[in-house]
Amino acid sequence: MSSSSARSLESDREIPYYHAVGNECELFEQAYRQHLPLLLKGPTGCGKTRFVSHMAARLGKPLFTVSCHDDLTAADLTGRYLLQGGETRWVDGPLTRAVREGGICYLDEVVEARKDVTVVLHPLTDDRRLLPLERTGELLEAPDDFMLVVSYNPGYQHILKSLKPSTRQRFVAQTFDFPPPAVERDIVARESGLSADRCSALVNLAARLRDMKGQDLEEGVSTRLLVYCATLIAAGMPIMEATRATLVEPLSDDEDVQEGLMEAIRATF
Ligand code: ADP
Repeated sequence: MSSSSARSLESDREIPYYHAVGNECELFEQAYRQHLPLLLKGPTGCGKTRFVSHMAARLGKPLFTVSCHDDLTAADLTGRYLLQGGETRWVDGPLTRAVREGGICYLDEVVEARKDVTVVLHPLTDDRRLLPLERTGELLEAPDDFMLVVSYNPGYQHILKSLKPSTRQRFVAQTFDFPPPAVERDIVARESGLSADRCSALVNLAARLRDMKGQDLEEGVSTRLLVYCATLIAAGMPIMEATRATLVEPLSDDEDVQEGLMEAIRATF
């Protein structure tokens, strides 16, 4: 093997595996180069987080990921004064670090965060690309290699938890969904080590289960859960046990709904 191919194999290994479904990699790269913020919309477990880690590694930029939750405030992103060894010291939060050092800041499930987060994001998402830090009196200008990426799941129809148009319209946006069957089979096989044939059967089953969404299920079974299922089967767990633990129990607590899902599973295997 030549040294250059050895090098390229080495660098491939450092890039998290992501199977593109459309032109999302090109869109991400363009948004990064043109200094535009990016919004990813889609159900949970369909590859958004993996996509962002893949792109950050491809672009060779550090990634600052924050999983937003309903207690997350602007200070959790920007930073705060902390008492350290008897001294009060300012400690940058992940957003500030990404702006200061350059890199990609990914706010997963951004709609979950407190409202004051939006106030911080607005000046960063227009052409000023500024991050004012009131507490330290600094006004940081984002460098060329800073990018803000946020995601949310429009499937959860929270009336109170949706992005306001004034925030959404600051982002270039891309919808994610579960990959087409042949792609999902390859992903599940690669992630779990289970044979492509057996993964194909699981992907077909997922299509049936996803058709049941809306009746009593809030969300269809995710690619993540299919990977879990295939991983357990590859490790030797009987199919019925593995499917119940990954494709039924995490989806619903309702016994009737669970029985409906199990029926669909028994009809497949
Ligand atoms: P999300 O951020 O949308 O909730 P993740 O990115 O965490 O979902 O995806 C869950 C898992 O599904 C990943 O860890 C990976 O195993 C698998 N996955 C989903 N889509 C892809 C894809 N396109 N390429 C590679 N892996 C994928």
